[in-house]
Amino acid sequence: MFVDLVKIRVFAGRGGDGAVSFHREKYIANGGPDGGDGGDGGNIVFVADNHMSSLMDFRYTRKYVAGNGENGRGGRCYGKRGADVVVRVPRGTLVREANSGALIQDISSNEPFIVAHGGRGGWGNAHFANARRQTPRFARPGLPGESFELILELKLLADVGFLGFPNVGKSTLLSVISAARPKIANYHFTTLVPNLGVVAVDESTSFVAADIPGLIEGAGTGAGLGHHFLRHVERCRLLVHIVDVSGIEGRNPIEDFETINHELAIYSEALAKRPQIVVANKIDTILDEEKHAEFRDYIMARGYEYYEMSALTTEGTRELVHACARRLQQLPPVLIFEPEYIPPQTDPQTNREVEITVQDGIYYVAGAWLEQLIRSVNFSDYESRMFFDKALHEAGVYEKLEELGISEGDTVDVEGYQFDYIV
Ligand code: GDP
Ligand code: MG
Repeated sequence: MFVDLVKIRVFAGRGGDGAVSFHREKYIANGGPDGGDGGDGGNIVFVADNHMSSLMDFRYTRKYVAGNGENGRGGRCYGKRGADVVVRVPRGTLVREANSGALIQDISSNEPFIVAHGGRGGWGNAHFANARRQTPRFARPGLPGESFELILELKLLADVGFLGFPNVGKSTLLSVISAARPKIANYHFTTLVPNLGVVAVDESTSFVAADIPGLIEGAGTGAGLGHHFLRHVERCRLLVHIVDVSGIEGRNPIEDFETINHELAIYSEALAKRPQIVVANKIDTILDEEKHAEFRDYIMARGYEYYEMSALTTEGTRELVHACARRLQQLPPVLIFEPEYIPPQTDPQTNREVEITVQDGIYYVAGAWLEQLIRSVNFSDYESRMFFDKALHEAGVYEKLEELGISEGDTVDVEGYQFDYIV
């Protein structure tokens, strides 16, 4: 069975916690804080693999979990970062966020892509020492890693796609012009897996060709007329439309040609307009010379580039390869889809999370956005102080302090800036 659509879950690693620790040495009474930072969590990284042509492997492994960062330790020892998990997918796999269906990335280039980022490791207490606070007995916990439910959808990347009824010789052609070894058999419903092959044109030029199952071949497995497989020619820059003109099977080549084009148009207007080279195959065994000639005239009259070959004897196949190479030179590159997924806002302006730690009766308020805020406030200016006060209020800081049991006159420390709490 051919698998080109799967749902999986990925979990990036959690960041390790920062350590609370103080320097200890003989004869040194009060060493400073030396708790190291936690390591970052591992990422989930996607990589395109040219040797894969289906998502089969994902039927058995549906969950991918990257390593957690190690916690920090004393002596300013940093925790080790968590191990990445590398997920190999066939080139041309679309990674979508499952709920929205939005495209996160088209895995088509050689660049590894981080789909889920590991959480940042927390700072150890060594980070929190300052003039007023010499013995910070707190550290930050590591942050959780990103996690997603993903839909992987394969849309193969090939320059040239072979199109045609079952049994016309698509797989045979691929096997004689590339190193690919697709299954060839003299009955319908054979090719149920697209095959990719690299076709060498000359020493410096090659292209990738895809032999996709014939349109009607999928019918037996519930894929309707086989439209399902058309997603794999969607990105082809050029289509090679193969027609059996031998008459061995009693087929009418013109009818076959039009039927396929009709199905193509039903599936996608864009695909129907894709440039086509038409190839008459099996010319080694022409039973009906009249039908053959009729087909040739029909195609030529419609302005198609037209070739004749025998995939079996390889007669005419090199000419076809060169014709494809010539056309490809003039065609735009393979379509790469643009990402459309917008991650939820984690911008400090909108994500105003705070963490409050109580130590020795002082309420320490921390948060990434507060660090930014503090820098922009001029505390000798009344207006500026009011702005600061309002920001804390809106972020619910005072409410949280009340919950923690703060009372009038207690000291609040916001990222190193201290003031008395007044109700
Ligand atoms: P596909 O279904 O389009 O992939 O067709 P295959 O490549 O599997 O070929 C179907 C049958 O047609 C096989 O028995 C092939 O040997 C035969 N065949 C393919 N090309 C030629 C050809 O040029 N001449 C002749 N006589 N038979 C061919
Ligand atoms: Mg085949």
